[in-house]
Amino acid sequence: MTVRDILQIGHPVLRQMATEVPVDEIKSDETQALIGDLVDTMRAANGAGIAANQIGVPLRVTVMEVTDNPRYPYKPRLPLTIVINPTITFLTPGQVDDPDGPKIVVVNEGCLSVPLRGDVERQVNIGVRYYDGDGVLHDEVKRGLTAGTWQHECDHLDGVLFVDRVKDPATLSTWDEFNRNGRDAFIERITAFVERVGS
Ligand code: ZN
Repeated sequence: MTVRDILQIGHPVLRQMATEVPVDEIKSDETQALIGDLVDTMRAANGAGIAANQIGVPLRVTVMEVTDNPRYPYKPRLPLTIVINPTITFLTPGQVDDPDGPKIVVVNEGCLSVPLRGDVERQVNIGVRYYDGDGVLHDEVKRGLTAGTWQHECDHLDGVLFVDRVKDPATLSTWDEFNRNGRDAFIERITAFVERVGS
């Protein structure tokens, strides 16, 4: 497999609505090679996830993984997850185990296609339906920062970048400035959130 170039904000493919992969093509050599390239490219760049259109392929495929990630040391671990044709639903308090818990979390996000970070509101409890790399259909609940990662990656498949969702542009910063000015306070707040929500 191959580490591919990652498209940067301004490239038109990042703004395209990606198309679904026919389910009977998930096991094809082409789709499996795409998945392999996404995993290699994500790992080489220390990303928490990457979508196919970020390497110039406008298909609804994304992969996510969080191990000991130097870009995002506060993120809970997330085993390698291959996601094809995902849909997300926002769960209501009546649909979750912890109805009194937080419903929205403000996450300072980054992206392999954007040289900035910024604050984005994400839903804490989501339902996801998707096919994995073997063509098996999954129906699952995701919570917390992991749910935020899912929303970020699925946005890519709709041509949406996190900067579109930044309500206060004053929160935008380079990585260097974030490390100097915002990192400690963010990590303290988000670590407390992860302990509260458990993911
Ligand atoms: Zn991204």
